[in-house]
Amino acid sequence: MSSAFVPVYDRDLVIVKGRGARLTDREGREYLDFAAGIGVNGLGYGDKKVLAAIKKQAGLLIHSSNLYHHEPGIALAERLVELAFPSKVFLTNSGTEAIEAAIKFARRVGKDAGRTELIAFEGSFHGRTLGALSLTWTEKYREPFQPLIPGVHFVKVGDVDGLRQVLGPKTAAVFIEPVQGEGGVRPIPAEFLRQIATLTREAGALFVADEIQCGLGRTGKLFAYQHAGVTPDILTLAKPLGGGLPLGAILLREDLAPALHPGDHASTFGGNPVAAAAALAVLERLTADGFLEAVEKRSASLLKALRKLAKRHPNAIAEVRGLGLMIGVEMRGSAGPVVKGLRDRGILAIKAGEKVLRLLPPLTIGSADIKRLLSELEVVLKEGAVAAA
Ligand code: PLP
Repeated sequence: MSSAFVPVYDRDLVIVKGRGARLTDREGREYLDFAAGIGVNGLGYGDKKVLAAIKKQAGLLIHSSNLYHHEPGIALAERLVELAFPSKVFLTNSGTEAIEAAIKFARRVGKDAGRTELIAFEGSFHGRTLGALSLTWTEKYREPFQPLIPGVHFVKVGDVDGLRQVLGPKTAAVFIEPVQGEGGVRPIPAEFLRQIATLTREAGALFVADEIQCGLGRTGKLFAYQHAGVTPDILTLAKPLGGGLPLGAILLREDLAPALHPGDHASTFGGNPVAAAAALAVLERLTADGFLEAVEKRSASLLKALRKLAKRHPNAIAEVRGLGLMIGVEMRGSAGPVVKGLRDRGILAIKAGEKVLRLLPPLTIGSADIKRLLSELEVVLKEGAVAAA
């Protein structure tokens, strides 16, 4: 399509426009988007309130540096704390930077006690920069860049004894996505999340919930940790926060914040005023009466229909799982042909790992669009079955 880029992405479509749950490419072809910018476009494309907030703030101030405060940044930090737990906020430009900040903050908090080690879980994905990559499980992402940061241990999800073995006086923090995204759309059992929270605290380490993909309404609750009734010491957010503008956040438990001092961390663009203004509009929409209940209803109907579909196609679908509108359909073979088949039929979806079809529609997806996905998916599965016969 263009040879001007470093070849790290495998892509061919040129998108020119987005409205609601639909994208239009350069050839004028329209796609129903069940990937929502990999979970970024939680409110779909062109949300009026987000757009108005961006336009208004862009007319006032686009950037002033983090040498100074700005009003949308202050309001956003205060709102996040109000919605989550007593904490202090640092704003970033992306998810991976929120993870880097979490690593640094956890190590800073544990510095005097010599806590430098980190724990993550098999199947995890925390980002692509070297620190976040060190906490990411997938070998093909890690291997070309070894050595990564030392002192990282991986534990199998559900393995309480395994966690006990590596948790200790050197552990700074334990990182987990309450619903693993890239690793195959795997909700972590609530009981295991509670055990992690308890054991981590008993060991004097910090419990980090990476909600970059599963947070902010995606699972039907504002924060996915709420399903398990736990509260993390550190929360990382990004993807949908800025309404499509680059923005991430890290919330650090209030009483831990005095361990951080001016100069310990910084970012030129982090928490940009326009992105912060957009985020305030996003949070207003997500917390409006009935918004999250509607996500749960959509989720229930989509999951139910997908499970029925799985029963009709037991040779193609191994499992349907998910929480809210973060749904994985594990195929028996590669999910690649299903993603391609859907795209040929005007629907965009993505894979999670090799075998899982990952559905992350806008949280505002309509029932007619859900029906369309289901009927096109059925056609694609039938075509697949014919091709295999
Ligand atoms: N953490 C999780 C759970 C993610 O899903 C992602 C991205 O997919 C990241 C971190 C990294 O975020 P970003 O791509 O914004 O750097």
